[in-house]
Amino acid sequence: MRGAKLQATYRCMSEGQVNNGLKEFCEFEFKFEEGSHNCPLCGSELKRIPEGKTVSELLRQGLRKK
Ligand SMILES: [Zn+2]
Repeated sequence: MRGAKLQATYRCMSEGQVNNGLKEFCEFEFKFEEGSHNCPLCGSELKRIPEGKTVSELLRQGLRKK
């Protein structure tokens, strides 16, 4: 990698209540440098959203894994 840092969109995929029930769900989404990041709102691990994929596609993938 030279100079310019790659950025990717990350989204919080936490399910159910977060922050001790203060929020019913968390939809934090932000652009970060590539790497692992945690949600500043609820502390969950953020998932990288690959280019060209919609969030609903990602959610469907996540459901299939369970
Ligand atoms: Zn979150």
